[in-house]
Amino acid sequence: MNVYDSEQIEKLLAPSRYKINSSFEVADLIIINTCAIREKAEQKVFSFLGRLADIKRRRPNLIIGVGGCVAQQEGKKILKRMPHVDLVFGTHAIYRLPYLIEKIETERCSLIDVEMSEVIEELESVIESSLDRTDPKVTSFVTIMRGCDNFCTYCVVPYVRGRETSRFPESIVNEVKCLVKSGVQEVTLLGQNVNSYGKKENLNSFPQLLGRVNEIDGLFRIRFTTSHPKDLSDDLISAFKNMDKLCNHIHLPVQSGANRILKRMNRKYTRELYLEKIDKLRNNCLDIAVTSDIIVGFPGETRADFEETLDLIKEVEFDGIFAFKYSDRPNAPAARFTNKITEQEKKDRLQILLNFQEYFTTKKNRALVGSNELVLVEGLSKKRVDKDDAQSKCQYVQWTGRTEANKVVNFIQSEGVIPGDRISKGKIVNVKIEKACSHSLSGKPVQVEISALKGEQSYAA
Ligand code: SF4
Repeated sequence: MNVYDSEQIEKLLAPSRYKINSSFEVADLIIINTCAIREKAEQKVFSFLGRLADIKRRRPNLIIGVGGCVAQQEGKKILKRMPHVDLVFGTHAIYRLPYLIEKIETERCSLIDVEMSEVIEELESVIESSLDRTDPKVTSFVTIMRGCDNFCTYCVVPYVRGRETSRFPESIVNEVKCLVKSGVQEVTLLGQNVNSYGKKENLNSFPQLLGRVNEIDGLFRIRFTTSHPKDLSDDLISAFKNMDKLCNHIHLPVQSGANRILKRMNRKYTRELYLEKIDKLRNNCLDIAVTSDIIVGFPGETRADFEETLDLIKEVEFDGIFAFKYSDRPNAPAARFTNKITEQEKKDRLQILLNFQEYFTTKKNRALVGSNELVLVEGLSKKRVDKDDAQSKCQYVQWTGRTEANKVVNFIQSEGVIPGDRISKGKIVNVKIEKACSHSLSGKPVQVEISALKGEQSYAA
């Protein structure tokens, strides 16, 4: 969500005199888009802001703006703690940013705008290709709703992003069409709980919205995140079978395997219901990849509760998980819960859990060795020879991309199999998987696909 918001900020400022610069040492305007979901992210904001004080002293005309969830949560406390900051703008104020910056430029004042609104303000669809990007995008996020009404007891989102509000489907479809026109092939529809999209406003349901996006010509893949297990409907489960562009991957946060803890978290489902949903997903779409989020050390989590989480991991065999140590967040009810778990215990549980999951991630990846996977190339991988070398020694170029199930695949373009100029960012390459590591796969490209559409692919192993 924050990545998407940062992109919106970039688009909003595109018509202004400010242009993106990778060095904050020489920038005239620095915008920090913050995240409050965990304590560590918030600490990083203040330590970064502290580093900027010296630059501001040397260049007093520099404008420093702080936006996002920490800005929403802390408001004027940020200006008190960091007086060199010029602007604090909340999660709903993004679209007023050009106006706020202009005001600071003319009046040289400090501003705070943390007002929340019921309506989602929209940025008129900006054709991506009109942006001055040196590296055009292949994949993109598209937010479809804002806020959340679920009030899980550990979470700040309802307080810093406000109540759940959905965007109009027409506007979402238009945005996706604009992205496709600029070369984007894969979109990820974003929301704190996409499954409840449109319910409050009586708009299209989420599966209906997916159906509309699925019809957009030129789009290759659709993903979405995040889903709340309690709202995962049968219609949405069927969409994995019926919609050709919808990827066979779902991120379904479980958070804990113990009913007692799920209740204290206010997750509104049980372990049994979660497992039932997983069964339905797998019965409907055999090869669906399932990933999840898990919090360890929630207040009151006993060793037995933790064991139940491990047991659930074993039962589901997730393709991957994101696991976190619980941390108190201001405003979230769990911050006031008793029976807090010690830092050391949380650390130990996290390590045990990550080691435990590693076995299943590797197992899932190993099962793909020998298979052919369609990989949407996202670019050159980090482990690569110099880009300049790449043009002359194409056999050493290592590309990276993702399968439909969201697995990272790295492959070397070996000469003789595919002519050197056939692989590039945005191409769909059929890769024979040869090796599985715990977090990625590697293989040999066997064919560059002509058609981007599922169901029309050809395999040439
Ligand atoms: S569903 Fe729960 S965890 Fe997710 S954003 Fe809403 S309150 Fe936070």
